[in-house]
Amino acid sequence: MTVLVTGGAGYIGSHMVLELLEAGEKVVVLDNLSTGRRAAVPDAAELVVGDFGDETLVSELIRRREVEAIVHFAAKIVVPESVADPLLYYLNNTASARSLLACAVAEKVRHFIFSSTAAVYGEPEQNPVSEDESLKPVSPYGRSKLMVEWMLEDAAFAHDLHYVVLRYFNVAGADPAGRSGQSFPNATHLIKVAVQAALGLRPDMEVFGTDYPTPDGSCLRDYIQVTDLARAHMAALRHLRAGGGNLTCNCGYARGYSVLEVIETVKRVTDVDFGVRISGRRPGDPAAIVAANDKAREILGWTPVHDNLDEIVRQAFEWEKKLQAEQAAR
Ligand code: UDP
Repeated sequence: MTVLVTGGAGYIGSHMVLELLEAGEKVVVLDNLSTGRRAAVPDAAELVVGDFGDETLVSELIRRREVEAIVHFAAKIVVPESVADPLLYYLNNTASARSLLACAVAEKVRHFIFSSTAAVYGEPEQNPVSEDESLKPVSPYGRSKLMVEWMLEDAAFAHDLHYVVLRYFNVAGADPAGRSGQSFPNATHLIKVAVQAALGLRPDMEVFGTDYPTPDGSCLRDYIQVTDLARAHMAALRHLRAGGGNLTCNCGYARGYSVLEVIETVKRVTDVDFGVRISGRRPGDPAAIVAANDKAREILGWTPVHDNLDEIVRQAFEWEKKLQAEQAAR
């Protein structure tokens, strides 16, 4: 029996592949390498290059490898891009996910773990936000993911398919052993951008808005370390295999940091002072969003072990230096 990991050559997916292999699982990765990289997939996992929305390819793969569980990471994830090109997001994140689900149902895959997002909450009325808070996504990205949550719920009701939806807050950091990290060169995420500024790979960086109703005016986010997040998926897989039932869980640390606090942390940890420009708000950004994580802790038995912003920043910095060294050697 095999676990199929879509997007397993990408940032979070590659950390999940490492966890699965360490646990002795058989793994097949399906990735179109649009943002993922071949080198992120260890030899012990089979890599199939293709689209997860390709029903012929996916059905054949499920049959050939006797896939028992699908962990679905592959997606477009940039909020402002989704605002500029919403139909791309509904095609890739929603329509293709429907195709993947249709294959899972037709081929009798029992377990499905889905990468959802805190963006399904939009601007929450209170923080920390719990899973039963109202769902009012403010970006096409958030809506494209929420529609998949609904499809999963309905498909699981109608068929012998069981799911865990994990709503990620802000994923950051890198594998503590330095085997993987955020590798996409044009990544837009805050810690990656700040670390690149510290390394002089950018002349400076921008803060998107300091006029939010938060203590220092910049947005508050809950940064979760990527290995901790992968371990939440492992717990979800165990939960499903034990017959634990369908579940939707937040993944975060229940603590928020502001954009300005993150930038100060990056400057302190790297010991580099880089230029920071204050600019206008970015479309689709909620002011503050922090996870309530009791459900993941209590039902999945998930306990974070890397809940430390300094450590997360250090890992991101070390990984960025490693990427630079690799590029220089080419
Ligand atoms: N952000 C910023 N400058 C950057 C990148 C991000 O000020 O170069 C802010 C962004 O507006 C948001 C927070 O940092 O308030 C986190 O953004 P990110 O893109 O990392 O994740 P998101 O919360 O959009 O998933």
